Amino acid sequence: MRADPSHYELVAPQNLEAVLALMDREPGAWTPIAGGTDLMVLYAAGKLPACKLVSIWNLPELRQIEVLPEEIRMGAGCTYTDLRTNDIIAREFPLLASAAAWTGGIANQNRGTVGGNIVNASPAADSLPALLVYEASLTLVSARGERKLPYGQFHQAYKRHALQPGELIRTIRLPRRFSGYFSYARKVGARRAQAIAKVCIAALGKVEGGKIVDARIALGSVAPVPLRLGDTEEALLGKNPERELATLAAQTVARQIQPIDDIRSTVRYRTAVAANLVAEFVEALGSQAGRE
Ligand SMILES: Cc1cc2nc3c(=O)[nH]c(=O)nc-3n(C[C@H](O)[C@H](O)[C@H](O)COP(=O)(O)OP(=O)(O)OC[C@H]3O[C@@H](n4cnc5c(N)ncnc54)[C@H](O)[C@@H]3O)c2cc1C
Repeated sequence: MRADPSHYELVAPQNLEAVLALMDREPGAWTPIAGGTDLMVLYAAGKLPACKLVSIWNLPELRQIEVLPEEIRMGAGCTYTDLRTNDIIAREFPLLASAAAWTGGIANQNRGTVGGNIVNASPAADSLPALLVYEASLTLVSARGERKLPYGQFHQAYKRHALQPGELIRTIRLPRRFSGYFSYARKVGARRAQAIAKVCIAALGKVEGGKIVDARIALGSVAPVPLRLGDTEEALLGKNPERELATLAAQTVARQIQPIDDIRSTVRYRTAVAANLVAEFVEALGSQAGRE
């Protein structure tokens, strides 16, 4: 079914305050549109409910990357190109830079935003496992004020999230305390570019005196929401990152995930790949620690 343009209204206020005032006047009536790379796919397929769209694309208040001593504050309207070309993100948050670099193609990276990726809430979204392991927090804003929320509490169930009517994500805050960590990211898809992940992983690990002192592992596309593997992380603490530990860690994965069969993959394949990626992370952590 083709979309009928007359069912839609699009406005583009000049600043964030005006967007929030508009959304406040008619709670729930206005849908924000940033890069449009998810919403326009729905529109073209005739699946975007007739609605009022308010553009937040390129609002300066949502497009900054602010560097503070303790944290980076990234506007929700930053694009993947903004992220992958930012020196500090590349240096201190390489999992996010990698996810940005393998999201869609260049045109998509120039337009798609990290805020849109969060709110679209696809379990297969590439940037979300990285936000989980870096323990990002969100600043949500409405005409009534601001509130902070750990990103890990944002997704409540499949495609359900914590935003209230009239609220936007304004900023994603990343604590600057992972620079000494080993980073591991993989996206397993049908091909290298322009593919949605069958499984993706973002992981961080730190080894001191031959023992793992911190491990953070998150997977995409294996559950209704992006998932942190708390049991696996716990099983790794205080251990030597050796091959036997990698095997043990892999065995903890299946009971924490809830993969599904869909057009991209199967439960069996996703379960096997998720376990293999976790094992590969532990082995890579071991090789890296051995080089120090
Ligand atoms: C060809 C193509 C390839 C793609 N490849 C990938 C891929 O490899 N990996 C991947 O993860 N995704 C991929 N995507 C999906 C998409 O590009 C991303 O999810 C993107 O980050 C969406 O951002 P956007 O700004 O375009 O969102 P929009 O389409 O503008 O909005 C998406 C949703 O987020 C809401 N929203 C946007 N910004 C905010 C905000 N600040 N506060 C509150 N709500 C907000 C909107 O109301 C809407 O509900 C692809 C899409 C296309 C078309």
